[in-house]
Amino acid sequence: MDVVEHHYEEIFQLTPVSLWEEDWAVVYAELDRLRDEGVTDFRAHFAGNPAQVFELASRVQITDMNEYTLELFEAESREQILGALATVFDAESFPVFAAQMVAAAEGKQQVSSEAYARTVKGKRIHVLMTLRMLERREGRVPVLLSMLDITERKAMEDKIREVVAALERSNKELEQFAYVASHDLQEPLRMVASYTQLLAQRYREQLDERAHKYIDYAVDGAKRMQDLINDLLHLSRVGTEGKPLVPVALEAVLDQVLVDLHGRVVDTGGEVSRGPLPTVDADAVQMSQLFLNLIGNGLKFRREGVAPAVHVSARPEGNEWVISVRDNGIGIEQQHHDDVFVLFRRLHGRGEYSGTGIGLAITKKIVERHGGRIWVESTVGEGSNFHIALPRSRSTP
Ligand code: ADP
Repeated sequence: MDVVEHHYEEIFQLTPVSLWEEDWAVVYAELDRLRDEGVTDFRAHFAGNPAQVFELASRVQITDMNEYTLELFEAESREQILGALATVFDAESFPVFAAQMVAAAEGKQQVSSEAYARTVKGKRIHVLMTLRMLERREGRVPVLLSMLDITERKAMEDKIREVVAALERSNKELEQFAYVASHDLQEPLRMVASYTQLLAQRYREQLDERAHKYIDYAVDGAKRMQDLINDLLHLSRVGTEGKPLVPVALEAVLDQVLVDLHGRVVDTGGEVSRGPLPTVDADAVQMSQLFLNLIGNGLKFRREGVAPAVHVSARPEGNEWVISVRDNGIGIEQQHHDDVFVLFRRLHGRGEYSGTGIGLAITKKIVERHGGRIWVESTVGEGSNFHIALPRSRSTP
């Protein structure tokens, strides 16, 4: 044995990968015979002759194997495995064997595939195997087979796929539920609101001060519930009614949003300024909802005695655009920088600032649907800066 052969032998024995040698003399002889018979499409031939594949698998001999193979196949001795291929591979793996023979017929030196094998104790294992044709010697046509046990990895992948599918299902159901619930609640609520108002108008003279107060509370409650339901509907529609993402000029989106917000800007005595904005792959309706929420909040959460000033800007960063909406309002304490995005999370009572606590949850859902991220930087008493990172459009700069 020369040095190279010696090293080969050492590697063969010690590597923690199952390696074995098979003698493919019968396969090559059969391929030659079939070729003489005029067979050219070996793939079709083997597919139509499973009995022949089985017969060859029973004749191909495993001639040598390394230590790790015993472990993988739960064998105590080499003799339990040495012998015909058909003893370790079930019929379900014969198509893989057939594909290997086709590769050999096409003169390929190497072929990799996934297959199932059975240990001597009967356990089914999933393996990734690579077949390598070696040099012919002494009438034998040796091939080297390496096998990696991927049973656990495959089981894990299956499990992950299952869990993801279940999550997607339950997410869809929840969205559907929120949609149906809020949609169906609208009608009875409209009745409550309109009849209470009617009561107040028609019986104005007969009702005393206290009754009017009660009616006001009822109308106010119904109005709040309407806001909540509307916002919940918007939230559930982000996923279900989103439009495909196409290049959208955020400049134009902001133009429209500022027209819609004009009244509120004037009422608050504030101003909204802006820098240049890019075009991104987006759903235009959702982008305008996003600006409405963020700029609306910037105007709403203003400091006593300070006119609100909101600034919208954008800067490129790597493969993303970072869009920022900055205000000079009350700011948000550090500990709440993450949870302002949680559904129904509000840091102030209704007495101080109106709202449902859904706006930022909707905004976050929109951003995530666009493959982006949202976060806030803020100092209490100075203002907040909401940032949105969106992937740069592939079709526009
Ligand atoms: P809403 O505005 O209806 O209360 P949001 O989901 O938009 O609900 O916001 C959640 C909470 O985050 C708000 O109640 C407020 O406490 C805080 N917040 C949001 N935007 C700002 C802002 N620009 N400045 C200060 N606080 C903010």
